[in-house]
Amino acid sequence: MKPKRISILGATGSIGTSTLSVLEQTNEFDIFALTAHKRAKELGLLCERYRPRYAVLGSGDAARDLAMTLAAKGIATEVLVGEEGLKRVASHSEVSHVMAAIVGGGGLAPTFAAAESGKTVLLANKEALVMAGSIFMSAIAASGAQLLPVDSEHNAIFQCLGQTAAVGADVSRILLTGSGGPFLQTPLADLAQVTPEDACRHPNWDMGRKISVDSATMMNKGLELIEASWLFNVPSDKIEFLIHPQSIVHSMVEFIDGSVVAQLGQPDMRTPIAHTLAFPDRQASGVERLDFSRLAELSFQSPDYERFPLLTLAREVAEGPLSQSVVLNAANEVAVAAFLNAGLPYLQIAPTIQKVVHQAEPLELLTIDDVLAYDQTARDLTNNLLATYD
Ligand code: NDP
Ligand code: MG
Repeated sequence: MKPKRISILGATGSIGTSTLSVLEQTNEFDIFALTAHKRAKELGLLCERYRPRYAVLGSGDAARDLAMTLAAKGIATEVLVGEEGLKRVASHSEVSHVMAAIVGGGGLAPTFAAAESGKTVLLANKEALVMAGSIFMSAIAASGAQLLPVDSEHNAIFQCLGQTAAVGADVSRILLTGSGGPFLQTPLADLAQVTPEDACRHPNWDMGRKISVDSATMMNKGLELIEASWLFNVPSDKIEFLIHPQSIVHSMVEFIDGSVVAQLGQPDMRTPIAHTLAFPDRQASGVERLDFSRLAELSFQSPDYERFPLLTLAREVAEGPLSQSVVLNAANEVAVAAFLNAGLPYLQIAPTIQKVVHQAEPLELLTIDDVLAYDQTARDLTNNLLATYD
């Protein structure tokens, strides 16, 4: 059997680090490449520890510095640069698996390169699928790549469907659960004052800052609606949002006979990561087991659409053309970055995205280059709108 060789895109992030921790539980994989964007020092430490064939960094200067540091320590890792470097390690003929764990639209080109070259693609980078939907799924089908969902809800749905992405006529609905984030109970009047630190303090999950804000606004669940509809080739109106504050049930599938199948586990991404790494087998993940005798409560409620208006917007977009999904994602990335780094008030995030989505002209997108160009247009539109705020 061919050895399993993995490139981890976004190795310094939350998912990247959890992936490396799961890989320590198995001898099945060679680590072929580790990539980061800016955190060169952290990537250097990972190279010392895991000795990958390649590392990739965002800038040429940082890559040269890292190459020199590694060479001085006798480490043979070759350091590549930027998107070309990412695409190379994602599509390299010796690689069997690619963990797509870059955050945001920056992950699209390399994740698509992995899809086009027939890899087993472990998909955490939901933004890539939201942006490229039909184009991405066609590339997977054409190359014979295998796409395995890492996102916990989608991984749960995949397991509930019986380890397949096929949704047949026997499925009546998919229940996409979400915790409701840190502001589920916050009085609406107090949301005006919340800070990036408040928004990133998720009650159950420890994640990167962008997805933490997405969880607070529930845009994350909106992106996941679009992600699920592509992954499982299912119309978005068959997918329902369900708030489940404890994050123990990771999603459910209801069949026409009334059976509901759920997947449960600790809120720890090492479980879905281990599931995709070992698929179709199973492996240990290092995650603590669920102790049902100590679970006080599993509760469920419908979302409050006044508190989470982006859920309504995402559903509207999910039913529209692909270009609207590109705009939704781009406007969200720009607005969230402005909230995290430039003082945009929390309550301006949703109206900013709504305005840009309603302003943008739908356009037919046929290639990844079309998507990337339109993504840039949408980012420019959002930045122009932000520049009009005082
Ligand atoms: P992090 O912010 O923790 O990590 C992001 C990684 O991507 C880092 O390695 C970062 O490098 C790298 N990166 C950032 N921007 C670029 C870019 N433009 N080009 C190349 N590399 C880049 O994010 P998470 O791990 O939290 O999330 C990763 C993806 O997984 C997201 O799409 C998220 O939605 C998804 N996801 C995450 C979950 C979680 O629990 N964290 C759960 C489900 C899905 P550097 O460190 O140098 O900045
Ligand atoms: Mg998720």
